[in-house]
Formats: sequence, C-alpha cells, structure tokens
Amino acid sequence: MTTRVNRDREDCIVKRLIGGIGAGTMLATGILTTLLAQRTATPPIPNLAGKVITVAGPIDPFALGVTLSHEHIFIDFSAPPPMVPPVTGVSVLKGARPANGRGAGLTDFDESLAEINDFKKIGGGTIVDVTNFGLTRDPEALLRVSKASGLNVVMGAGWYQKALHPPDMAERTIEELTAIVVRDVTVGAQGTSIRSGIIGEVGVNGKPLEANEIKSVRASARAARITGAPMILHSFATNDEMMTVLDIIASEGVELSRVVMGHTGGKDMEYLKRLFQRGVFVEWDYMGQAPLPPAADTQRIESIAAAINAGYTDHVLLAHDVCTQAQLKRNGGGGYTYISNVILPGLKAKGISDETIRRIMVDNPRRALTFVAPQVAAQTAPKP
Ligand SMILES: [Zn+2]
Repeated sequence: MTTRVNRDREDCIVKRLIGGIGAGTMLATGILTTLLAQRTATPPIPNLAGKVITVAGPIDPFALGVTLSHEHIFIDFSAPPPMVPPVTGVSVLKGARPANGRGAGLTDFDESLAEINDFKKIGGGTIVDVTNFGLTRDPEALLRVSKASGLNVVMGAGWYQKALHPPDMAERTIEELTAIVVRDVTVGAQGTSIRSGIIGEVGVNGKPLEANEIKSVRASARAARITGAPMILHSFATNDEMMTVLDIIASEGVELSRVVMGHTGGKDMEYLKRLFQRGVFVEWDYMGQAPLPPAADTQRIESIAAAINAGYTDHVLLAHDVCTQAQLKRNGGGGYTYISNVILPGLKAKGISDETIRRIMVDNPRRALTFVAPQVAAQTAPKP
C-alpha cells in the first residue's frame, strides 16, 4: 500500500525535479513516469482463477488449443538492458521510433507474422511469448501480431538472466521488483493495459547462483503467489542449484505444479524424475534451427518418449524457443511448426498415441497457464 505521506513526498520530488531541469524535458517526463508508476505499484489484485490471460485479455482455458509453451515472436538480444522500472513507449520493431535495440534478432513485424501464420494454418491455437525485461518485450507488437494472426498470445514478465539485468538491479528490493511484476499481470505492462499471463522466462544461470538472479526468482515467485499466475524458468544453473531455486519458489508459497522448467528436457532421466516428483512441468525446447535435421532432435524424441513411457506425460511441455533467424523457415529452419512436422511424427513412430500427444500439446499447457486464486498473504514464511 502506498500511504498519503509517500504520495505527497513523491509529488514534491516530481515538482522539484521538473523545476530543477525545466518542465517538458525528456528527462523530467521519464522520471515523472517512473515515480507515478511506483506510486500506483500496488493495485487491487483481481481474482483471475480459472482464466488464461492473453495479450487481448482473459480467455477460457479450453479456447487455447494446440499451444507452444516457450517462444519469442519478437526479440532483440542486442538491445541495452532497461532500467528498473522499465521504460515505456519503446518498441523492438525495426523502423519503430523510438526503437529499443539495434534491429538484430526477430524485429520485423511482417516476417514474424508470416512465420507464426504457418503455425495457425496447421491448426495452432496459442503461442506463449516469454520475452521479458532484458529481452525487449513489446506488449503492443504482441497484441498487434495476435490480432493479425488470430492466434492467442500469452506474454511473459519478470527478468531474464543476469547478463541482461538492468544496471540498477542490485539496488532494487524484492518488494519493488515484485510490485512491477504484479502490475504487469494485473494492470498492464510498460504503461499499456496489455497484461502478462505468465511470469518468465525468469533467468537462472547459476554456477554459482547469483544474488540478483535469486532476488528476481524470489520476486517472481512472490508475484506468482499474489496474482495466481504461472511461472517459467530459464534453467541454466546446475541440477542441484535448480533444486535450490525450486525450494526458494516453494518457500514463497507457490505450488511447484505452477512452475515450468524451461530448457530442461533432455537432461538425464534420474534428474528429470526428481523434478517430475516435485510436480513441475519439464519443457523440451530450443529446436528446429538450420541446418535441419539436427541430430539433437533425434535425441530429444527419444528423451520425450522415455519420459512418457516412465509415466510422466502430464509433466511434459514442448516448444521451439524460436529466438534466432536460423530457426525461421525463411532461413531454412523449422519455424513454429517443427514440432508438428518433425517431433510429433517422431514420437508417433515410437508408438506414442494421438491421445498422449493431445495431452502434451493441449491439456498440459492449459493446466500450466490457467491462473489459480490469488493469495495476497504468504501461506509459508519466506526464508530470510
Ligand atoms: Zn531461455
């Protein structure tokens, strides 16, 4: 809650700043925006239980259809990390002014639209775009591409890995970061009314676990509990470190069945079983890059089939993690249809049934993305 005293103090700071550097300057406007955003950082929490939140608003989870659980429709790895809170009104798109980044990666609207339209044409329903802070998330571009394609798009939130953290990350408190994520989910992201439907991909690089990444994990988990949103992790720490990360998330009062472990499928089955037994979703992703077919995808098919045959179908998620030009069809990659065209036929050839494939491509993402009731008070005391 923001008190009256705080508001008065912020108003005063704003006036002093504007007076000091001249009303109407870009800097003053930026600071004003930041302070106003902070002042309203604790909006009432809506109960979104039983809904999936897309960029176009809440929908019935049964409307999702075939779902890709971890993609990037627009992304620019070369962009400078944003400040906290992130600036508003910038776009990742080539030709946009002001642009956020240098136009590398996936920054052409028509090109990305054509690629995701291929997924729509073969019966695709929903794409989860886990681009977040540090990865040039662009809410307005996502809404536009959702409308143009007819696909549901679910947008991410939170912070990517430490290399792309904002320069002021160390100075920010868990409470500040939590408030930003809660606002993205309940009000809208980056000054828009376009809401995030999943928190992530939350960057965890580890080796060793790093203070700012743990702070980001804790804030994301807290925001997940407060809003009822699901979480998805960019899991690049060691196996033991990822177990620690799951302990931290659980300590913030989040059920681990609400957590997707990105970039994790294909690891050794003993580790995957430990994860399955904790209740998380394990995601096989990053596939379909040119030149095709990479041997890694053959191994992936075997690994997915092994998890299914071990009885863990309900914890399996699949995605391409399209994030490079080499993954686009126009450049010889598999695009957003590689799973449908290569991986699923590969699974069928190994005896996996159509019904099991439907569970993986439709039912599992639906369970993963459906909000639960918000819990504003923690059920479990957070660890210090
Ligand atoms: Zn990732």
